[in-house]
Amino acid sequence: MILELHNVACTYEAGCSAIEGISFSARKGDIIGLLGPSGCGKTTTLRAIAGFEPVSAGEIRIQGQPVAAVDRHIPPEQRQVGMVFQDYALFPHLTVQENVGFGLRHGSASERRCHIADMLALTGLSGLDQRYPHALSGGQQQRVALARALAPKPVLLLLDEPFSNLDPDMTYRMREELLHLLKTTCTTAILVTHDHEEALGMADAVAVLYRGQLEQFASPEIMYHLPASPFVARFVGQADFIPGTIHEAAVKTPVGNFPVPQDYRGGPEVVVMIRPDDIQIGENGSCTGTIQSRQFRGSETRYGIRLPSGDLIHSSASSTQRFPLHTRVTLHLKATHTVLFDRNTD
Ligand code: ADP
Ligand code: MG
Repeated sequence: MILELHNVACTYEAGCSAIEGISFSARKGDIIGLLGPSGCGKTTTLRAIAGFEPVSAGEIRIQGQPVAAVDRHIPPEQRQVGMVFQDYALFPHLTVQENVGFGLRHGSASERRCHIADMLALTGLSGLDQRYPHALSGGQQQRVALARALAPKPVLLLLDEPFSNLDPDMTYRMREELLHLLKTTCTTAILVTHDHEEALGMADAVAVLYRGQLEQFASPEIMYHLPASPFVARFVGQADFIPGTIHEAAVKTPVGNFPVPQDYRGGPEVVVMIRPDDIQIGENGSCTGTIQSRQFRGSETRYGIRLPSGDLIHSSASSTQRFPLHTRVTLHLKATHTVLFDRNTD
């Protein structure tokens, strides 16, 4: 393992933990998405890994070596970790070349120049080496921050919301570029983001944080299809929660009956999570409803359908199909597994 967190907590104010019980790990070459809403503790977690915050409980290991615990604090410069800060934090009085070379200690001056040139080429910055940060676009500044963090060959790269200062059209391109760069260099990285598309699209595994706690650590597929809590279900995509009641190993709901998963341990009053892609509008359905809203989204159209029970459920259909508002339709369920939550959990 490159990185292991075991029950890590950080406390800013006595008696009140900003994060608590955080455990996850990264193997060589993994990209781990650290996902959650603003204020949930993503930056704190990243700073604890980098060594900028002490931990108040638990342990952090890098390449098997304990670097942080209550009685241990290896300083940031000895952790071999590179960090790209949310605002990039470039040195304004240094050129691109000097920024990228800042953390380099080893080798002769000409070896370092050569290595910097390689880093600039890798990040698409060749020719800009004598520019100052103020004369660069947002995307170029981000590349400099990335080149600077990667130059000392860190064992782990930490990225704090690296796309939040870029225009949306730039973001898509930079995501692809970064993914390509991380994978071709086999860099292990922790990518902090509040954007579920970014986390699910780029990461090999995702840790979802909520109010300083880890809600789930899983692959993007598991996270989306088998969320561990209603919060995760909602945070990683659109989800409807249809009320149901368990009776003799089946959940009865207004959209039909479902088998109860074997590992369900809650009470008989439940909600069943249903994603828009689990519901198909068409013949041979298990229930009917009336189209109440329609949102064209390019490759798909999302319909809101009111059930006779009063519940609202969403369905994504191919945008070549078109159902007028107020039409009565039949619904067919495509879900291959049931995701259930006790109605009393939030
Ligand atoms: P995120 O990056 O997910 O938005 P942060 O890790 O920055 O969240 O913050 C987590 C919590 O810790 C928040 O409630 C925030 O107000 C608090 N916090 C962050 N930094 C400090 C600090 N230096 N002093 C006191 N509280 C802080
Ligand atoms: Mg933050």
